[in-house]
Amino acid sequence: MSNTAPRTIGFKPGERNIFLHLLTACNLSCRHCYINPPQHGTATLAKETVLKWLRLFARPGKNANLILLGGEPTMHPDLPAIIRAARSLRYTVTVDSNGFLFHDLLDRITPDELDYLSFSLDGPEPAVNDPIRGDQVFATCTENLRRAVGKGFNTSVIYTVSRLNIDHLHRMPELLREYGVRRFFIQVIGLRGKPAAGHPAEGGDWQVEPEQWLRVVPEVARRAAEMGIHTTFPKVYLDPDEDFACAAAVADNFFIFPNGRVYQCPLCEDYPIHSFQIENDRLIRREGINEDRFFALSIPEGCVMNKLLQPENIEYDEHNNPRHRISCCLLKQEFVPQINSHES
Ligand code: SF4
Ligand code: SF4
Repeated sequence: MSNTAPRTIGFKPGERNIFLHLLTACNLSCRHCYINPPQHGTATLAKETVLKWLRLFARPGKNANLILLGGEPTMHPDLPAIIRAARSLRYTVTVDSNGFLFHDLLDRITPDELDYLSFSLDGPEPAVNDPIRGDQVFATCTENLRRAVGKGFNTSVIYTVSRLNIDHLHRMPELLREYGVRRFFIQVIGLRGKPAAGHPAEGGDWQVEPEQWLRVVPEVARRAAEMGIHTTFPKVYLDPDEDFACAAAVADNFFIFPNGRVYQCPLCEDYPIHSFQIENDRLIRREGINEDRFFALSIPEGCVMNKLLQPENIEYDEHNNPRHRISCCLLKQEFVPQINSHES
């Protein structure tokens, strides 16, 4: 059983989340991929560099969350050593994989050494997932997911909702229960990059309508939690009585790319307006008008960056008032199953 209303996961002052892209290379070419080599380079960070950068963001005596990303992070041959080094620096470590698990990851680390192993699946069957993520991807990803669960890893699944797969989201909870997955992260497709341009053959952009999102996603999340799966999904639209908060103004979130760019806001990642740059293994705050000048601004539409970078996301009424305020893209809601409530 779970509550009928989701809990909003507010930003906590002092919380630190490090999103480290070890490389931008990937074996897949998903149709909604947001990786942008012209902006983020094509380098694979050397292990020694990764360890120095991890020390830059670690805080003595305090925990932080580390999410290892790519491209495909398991293509990094030194991933097990990186995970171990991160744990010794008091990071809680998550690896976000497309499910191919290169370099025998499951045989080179133990479940005790990795906090979460996340798999991306965009459909409950090949006919939905593979047109988005690639031929045979469903079979490989789910086989490795089963192996990971069988070995005792803490697994989660990320489902990126778009117009291509929202009608199949409701079938995911049963599938995840069958696989033994502990956590389910539902994401909304961004408007940046390829999705923004849309695919004319499929009728334009992939963004789902607000009403459809609100009708479908919370209900699927609630059902998944009733099956014992801790489920998280973006808030997206603030209720009229809810306060707006910008994560970058409250918590320490750093989105780090192999070319040394460090952003505080993920919406800004396609533009050279990063707050920091790593130079000679030192973190340097950049001068000039960058993303960090905007975090304290307050507008009726909610997130300033959303208004600046993807204004087509906002609808106005006949009095020119926004119909919905857009929350910070990092604001999440969750349903915590009672049987797992100690995990929240
Ligand atoms: S697995 Fe991730 S990085 Fe690779 S193509 Fe797909 S979305 Fe991009
Ligand atoms: S998405 Fe908007 S609210 Fe969130 S960190 Fe970026 S600027 Fe701030």
